[in-house]
Amino acid sequence: MTTESLVPAAELQRNLPMQHQQQTLTLEQETNPWEAQAYRFDLAARKLKLDQGIWKVLRYPTRELIVHIPVCMDNGTIEVFTGYRVQHSVARGPGKGGIRYAPDVSLDEVRALASWMTWKCAVVNIPFGGAKGGVICDPKRMSQGELERMTRRYTAELIEFIGPEKDVPAPDMNTNEQTMAWIMDTYSMHMRQTVTSVVTGKPVNIGGSRGRREATGRGISVCCDEALKHLNLPVQGCRVIIQGFGNVGSNAAKLLAEKGYTIIGIAEFDGGLFNDRGIDIPNLLSHRARTGSVTGFSGAEPAEPHQLLTQPCDILIPAATENVITSQNAAQLQCRILCEGANGPTTVAADDILEQKGVFVIPDILANAGGVTASYFEWVQDRMGYFWTEEEVNQRLDRIMTDSFQDVISYSTSHDVNNRIAAYMLAIDRVAYTTKQRGIYA
Ligand code: NAD
Repeated sequence: MTTESLVPAAELQRNLPMQHQQQTLTLEQETNPWEAQAYRFDLAARKLKLDQGIWKVLRYPTRELIVHIPVCMDNGTIEVFTGYRVQHSVARGPGKGGIRYAPDVSLDEVRALASWMTWKCAVVNIPFGGAKGGVICDPKRMSQGELERMTRRYTAELIEFIGPEKDVPAPDMNTNEQTMAWIMDTYSMHMRQTVTSVVTGKPVNIGGSRGRREATGRGISVCCDEALKHLNLPVQGCRVIIQGFGNVGSNAAKLLAEKGYTIIGIAEFDGGLFNDRGIDIPNLLSHRARTGSVTGFSGAEPAEPHQLLTQPCDILIPAATENVITSQNAAQLQCRILCEGANGPTTVAADDILEQKGVFVIPDILANAGGVTASYFEWVQDRMGYFWTEEEVNQRLDRIMTDSFQDVISYSTSHDVNNRIAAYMLAIDRVAYTTKQRGIYA
């Protein structure tokens, strides 16, 4: 049951901006990630004086797939889940981007995430385009068997659209190494041979890369180091608050603590923690592994998760989900640096407020690009059939993240724009250049 969406071109065209014309912000643009992405894209494209034709090409996803996935549930009934895969651009290489499972997944969210992947891969200058997938489901209420059957059928529905040279999925919210192993196996069964490079974020024993699991958190820690150097601030005594203690947030917390940062706050869904003298992250990880939650940890005071975002700190790292820093709370933020671990945590309206407050923003398409960079390393290693040590992966990752941070800062200075728009401009410039060189196939 596979249908390619017929709506996008017509539906999206209504938002085509007039070049060089100021736009006014709508409520939709504040809360809809696709509109927010398009708004920032337009702003950067306008600053770049991007050719109108290339503007249109890059503004819309290349391909959008909607699939309806029948699954036999454990109780004997059949459920049908809706899934998406959006390929925003394949100009610079195969599509690359995660798959998320959540009840509130929408086509607009997947479109936005696919576009961000295009810009992210271009910011760190790796040879991938941008893609993203999602399935509307509630994984917390599904058994492992149900998740496996849903993942395998979703993969089967996507089979002509993914592949090492076409589109390479990876984990995202509520998907993990096991999910990637099922996708790799399903794809391999269809191809009648083992194809490890069809997905990244796999377990290490079946073609995963050492260092991939920690890579997004590691990239965040490199960006924090570089930001402190840029602002002439010391690591010692640097106080950090993190929202989300999943893959990104917990690994960022661990690595930052190892480097000497003081993690004073952790905000999770079911509760928050605060300790002015610093939370012992290895102990918190053991507590979470034992109890399944950060709450009840004896090494910190309980705190209201939403209020933690506006507590005084040097670095705030939203590493959970979209739209958590909005026009409603941006003015109350008391951080010097905002390092965006999650995709799209800050709304367009909040951008302006943060700029006025002088907050140094490390935008998502730079800050969390360590994950896709290590995914690129995994894809390279799978294709070579030769695997690097963790030190080799980390060294290469640190170099790419440091260089990319410097590229964005240079662009921001030379074009007199904030870091977010600088990152978009740098990325759009690179993708536009390749698109022009390749030409438009007729
Ligand atoms: P995850 O599912 O491992 O962790 C997310 C955590 O955030 C969970 O512990 C969840 O309980 C918590 N959370 C969700 N909503 C929250 C809220 N409103 N308040 C507080 N906590 C909340 O997911 P992840 O892989 O860590 O991804 C987190 C974000 O980072 C997402 O935006 C994802 O797209 C982005 N990202 C992830 C990677 C990666 O390599 N995993 C790479 C780049 C970007």
